[in-house]
Amino acid sequence: MQVLRLDNLVANTTYLKAQQIDRKELRKRRLSLTLPKLKKTSALQAAEGERYESLCEQQPIGRKLFQQFLLTSNDQYAAAAEFLDELSKWSFAEDEKREKAKQTILAKFCQPGSTRFLSYFTEEDAETCKDLSDSNFDEVILDHLREATREFLKGRPFSEYLKSQFFYRFLQWKEYERQTITDKYFYEFRTLGKGGFGEVCAVQVKHTGQMYACKKLDKRRLKKKGGERMALVEKQILEKVNSLFIVNLAYAYNSRHHLCLVMDLMTGGDLRFHIYDLGKRGIRMERVVYYTAQITSGLLHLHNMGIVYRDMKPENVLLDGKGQCRLSDLGLAVELSKGKMICQKAGTTGYMAPEVLKQEYYRYSVDWWSLGCSIYEMVAARLPFRDFREKVQNDEVTRRTLEDECKFEHKSFDAPTKDIISRFLKKRVARRFGCQEGVSSNHEFFNSINFHRLEAGLLEAPWVPKPDVVYAKDADEFKDSSDIKDVKFDTKDEKFFREFSTGAVSVQWQKEMIDSGVFDELNNFLAPSSQRQTPLQ
Ligand code: ADP
Ligand code: MG
Ligand code: MG
Repeated sequence: MQVLRLDNLVANTTYLKAQQIDRKELRKRRLSLTLPKLKKTSALQAAEGERYESLCEQQPIGRKLFQQFLLTSNDQYAAAAEFLDELSKWSFAEDEKREKAKQTILAKFCQPGSTRFLSYFTEEDAETCKDLSDSNFDEVILDHLREATREFLKGRPFSEYLKSQFFYRFLQWKEYERQTITDKYFYEFRTLGKGGFGEVCAVQVKHTGQMYACKKLDKRRLKKKGGERMALVEKQILEKVNSLFIVNLAYAYNSRHHLCLVMDLMTGGDLRFHIYDLGKRGIRMERVVYYTAQITSGLLHLHNMGIVYRDMKPENVLLDGKGQCRLSDLGLAVELSKGKMICQKAGTTGYMAPEVLKQEYYRYSVDWWSLGCSIYEMVAARLPFRDFREKVQNDEVTRRTLEDECKFEHKSFDAPTKDIISRFLKKRVARRFGCQEGVSSNHEFFNSINFHRLEAGLLEAPWVPKPDVVYAKDADEFKDSSDIKDVKFDTKDEKFFREFSTGAVSVQWQKEMIDSGVFDELNNFLAPSSQRQTPLQ
């Protein structure tokens, strides 16, 4: 036992220390790093057909290089770049600073006398600018000017960019991005959690120092239990969603024994751990409200994309280092084709809605039911229809779910909380909260939440994880119990593994390169002005 404790201590310490890695150590690791030479045709082909939006706006490295191109080309292009930059800063400015920022933008870009005047503005735009000096300077007018600037940039500047060395450099980065990812790309640290098909451990990208969580799905187990399709769906949905309230996928690759999903590392642990494993059971009300608001935003994001989550429960909601939460584990999620409903029993016992248990057709309603169960559990540290550690058959939980009324015996339930849970736990879909007009943020339960700021990621969390604590059970509690043998892979399996292993996810990978400083270190070709716009050979 003593030995295990020591092992745990060491595992925790190395894991925590890795998160504090210093720049000197990183520079050492990167000494050998260079951008790959371009296999010209392949890279060009890959980028062909990509639009302005993808190349110059959505991809972080693309955006940077296009901006550098504009800033070093001529005054007009530079002014356009600066204008967009200042507009975006303006839109995130705090209320008190907005008026002043607006006046600065006006004076600099919208007055014909100014050196930074944007001369591509049409007469109509100029008229609009006049309006700006009045008090009705608002988002709509700004959007109009932003659009005018984008239209301008999409024309000549963009086609010149495609012939410049900045774009050549972009293609080199794309080539680098397409590298094959293997186990060797990462250092591995302790196990953080365990699921049906394998464990989740912390990893670090060697060259950048970026920490991630790696969900390792055991290939043999997947095959034995027929989980391959599920794994692929999870990967494809994670890749597609882009929300502050859902974990991001950074890499998908395949090692000898596992299919691996590399995601945001959520150092604060899952909500189940917070409900049951930190001394006093249950979560304080202020936190419950905050998490529920973020979960609601995450669910709405999925629903708007036509995705039903189907596995809403505290165990699948994870906290990051700032105490904000995200939904994870999209293994049961399903994308609905337009107007369609599904009829398939899926979910976790205790959280499944009546319509699922009765095997009826359903859509998004099931997630709101499970959210009701989850709020209940955060407060009372038990489920509405199953007591903590109660030994009870699934059939009995089903019976209670279908027939019993939910009781609120725990002393922490206040009136608004009881009300919102009761609305989520309406057995009839047509009556359930969230199932007609979406969840109203006006409910009294959410009184303390400014959803506008919450959705911009600006609402500070009521509780922040301590940086020197590991919010997970001891690593040895996750030891693998059963080993699966006699599974052989055929060519169909190998093909599936390759289909899964798409490597780096563009936006996340490029962000990692920029945040870790690798982009600046490898991209220092811009200094001499004689190098401006060398055409692509
Ligand atoms: P499964 O689909 O098998 O349930 P999950 O994706 O839910 O697997 O992961 C299992 C557990 O691993 C989670 O409950 C959580 O404790 C931990 N975990 C999962 N993803 C992360 C992450 N990104 N960061 C930190 N811990 C994680
Ligand atoms: Mg899970
Ligand atoms: Mg899962």
